[in-house]
Amino acid sequence: MDILLYILIFIMGTVFGSFFTLAVYRIPKRQDITHTHSYCPNCNHKLGFLDLIPVFSYIFLLGKCRYCKEKIRPRYFILETLSGLTFVIVAYLMNISAYNLKPILLAEGAFMALYLCFVFIMAGIDAENRKIEKSISMYGVLLSIAYIIYLCVVEKESIYRYVIYLAFYAIILILDTVTLKKYAKNSYVHGVILTVLTMVIFTGEYVMINTIIMTALVVAIDLLMHKIENIRKRVRREKKDYGENIDYGFVLGVSNILNLIFVLAWYKFFV
Ligand SMILES: [Zn+2]
Repeated sequence: MDILLYILIFIMGTVFGSFFTLAVYRIPKRQDITHTHSYCPNCNHKLGFLDLIPVFSYIFLLGKCRYCKEKIRPRYFILETLSGLTFVIVAYLMNISAYNLKPILLAEGAFMALYLCFVFIMAGIDAENRKIEKSISMYGVLLSIAYIIYLCVVEKESIYRYVIYLAFYAIILILDTVTLKKYAKNSYVHGVILTVLTMVIFTGEYVMINTIIMTALVVAIDLLMHKIENIRKRVRREKKDYGENIDYGFVLGVSNILNLIFVLAWYKFFV
C-alpha cells in the first residue's frame, strides 16, 4: 500500500515541479500561469496532453519534440524529477503512510506541499532574474497566516510564538510600500526578509538557524573566490572583477530544503 501512496506522491511532486518551471518562466514576464497553452520553443507547435506529462513525456519522447524532433533541454526533466523526489523524501520523513492517514497529518502534508511551492518558485525566479517576486512573497505571507490560524485553532498551539513574526511581516510590508512609492521598485532586501520570515514559520527556528549558517557559508565562499580571482587578475594586470551579486533567495531556498530534510531525518531516526 505504501508503495502505491509514494508513487502517487512522486507523481504529485512532478506535476508540482512542472508547474514550478512554468511559473518561474512566466510570472516575471507577467504571463498567465493557468490558461495559455504551452508551445515548443523551436517549432511553435501547440503541445498536447501527451507531451505535457511531467518526467514521463520526456522519457517516452526520448528528449525530443514530437513534431520537429528538436532536442528538449533536460533541465525541465531534471527539475521535475527533483521536485518529485523532494516530495517523496519529505512525506516519508513526516511519517505519512497509508496506514496512518490521520486528518492532522494530511493537513500538515498539504501545508508542506504549498510551502514547497513557495520555496521552489521563489528560488527559481531569483536564480533566473535575481529578483524576489512580490506576488510570490505575498503568497508566502498569506500561506503563513493561514498556517498560523490552522495551528492555533486545530492544533491548539499558542499564538504568542508567532506574534513577533506577524509583527515583522507588518513592518516589512509597510516599509516595502513606502519604498515602492519612493523608488517605484520593490526592494530585494525586503523580499529576502519576508522569505526568511515565511521559512521560520514553516520550518521552525532550529532549521532556520542552520539555513542561515549554511547561506552565510556559501556567501563567504563566494566572496573568497572573488577575492582570489581579483588577486590573480591584479598579478596579471587584468581588469578587476567585482563579481555578480549572489542570489540570496536561491541560496536560502536550497539550504532551507536541505536543512529541513536533515532535521526531519534526525528526528525520525535518532530521537
Ligand atoms: Zn518542436
